[in-house]
Amino acid sequence: MQELKDKYGRKISYLRLAITDRCNLRCKYCMPANGVDIVNRKELLSYKEMYRITRVLSELGVNKIRLTGGEPFVRKDFMNFLESLSFNDKLDEINITTNGALISKHIKKLEELKINAINLSIDSLQKEKFAKITRRDVFENVFDTFEKLEKSNLKLKLNVVVQSGFNTDEIIDFVELSKNKDIAVRFIEEMPFNGKGQRDMKEEWNYNKIINHINKHFPTVETLLNNKSSTSRNFRIPNYLGTFGIIPAFTRTICNDCNRIRITSTGLFKNCLFDGGVFNVRDFIRNGASDNELKKLFIDTVANKPQNGFVAEAARNNDISESMSSIGG
Ligand code: SAM
Ligand code: SF4
Repeated sequence: MQELKDKYGRKISYLRLAITDRCNLRCKYCMPANGVDIVNRKELLSYKEMYRITRVLSELGVNKIRLTGGEPFVRKDFMNFLESLSFNDKLDEINITTNGALISKHIKKLEELKINAINLSIDSLQKEKFAKITRRDVFENVFDTFEKLEKSNLKLKLNVVVQSGFNTDEIIDFVELSKNKDIAVRFIEEMPFNGKGQRDMKEEWNYNKIINHINKHFPTVETLLNNKSSTSRNFRIPNYLGTFGIIPAFTRTICNDCNRIRITSTGLFKNCLFDGGVFNVRDFIRNGASDNELKKLFIDTVANKPQNGFVAEAARNNDISESMSSIGG
């Protein structure tokens, strides 16, 4: 079988696909208060195009997909798209990253579709603070989603962006959430992908600082064996039902085992979160590219995946200020 492999021997099997650049929240670390410019609807990949891209990539060995955005659930007919994706038997895992504000009514259907895992973004367990971070008053909805997901048979991960001066006082509360709940709490280093929004850091809360902080409270933290391509380093407090992890998104110590590519909502193909985009798949499709031509393009592009996020960032003159909502986090 043809496959996607780069010159460092890394095999690509995981696609992150942004469903839309639109979002119902305005998280401070992701965008400024008045949002970011959104593209004309026609520039977004259609569901048909996304389905085709996914099928072609799955024939090249991609067996795991994460649907993200913007907020995937704000796009009309997202649930129908999920249903069509679930017929692709080459995909072993379909995962979704969501802010959770719009999904509680869909949970039953998500279970029926055998969605593998939901990553729910929740940066504070306090209503007021949550509203300050997201600039929207939706804490109750999101917490309701959290409770429903926790009772469902979907695997649940919580994404917590660690923001200096905003929510570092809640790190231990988040770890404590894993005591009686079968969840994976994942702390994410804040990155400058914020559409020129917040990154006013008093202290840099990187991987080491986060784990040292947790170790002080829980001196018996157990390190868990990682899946080779895991984005997080994972831990457990002895006898706790759930786990916690840290995603070194900014310090980038996970690049050696990277198995990921990204496609933004407008079809920009990214070999690395930190690169500026390599080519636009949408344009190739709309200009009549055949499946074989698309495959060749993917294979040739992946071969040149940058060695790591620092190399990718340097190649674009270190300007990484676009919003995660337009990249697809
Ligand atoms: N709207 C959905 C959500 O918030 O889960 C999906 C898209 S969002 C861009 C995906 C993930 O990226 C979220 O967990 C979010 O917290 C994270 N994220 C956004 N901006 C970030 C930044 N500047 N640094 C680190 N993580 C960020
Ligand atoms: Fe929207 Fe997600 Fe960005 Fe928050 S992090 S503004 S929910 S895209």
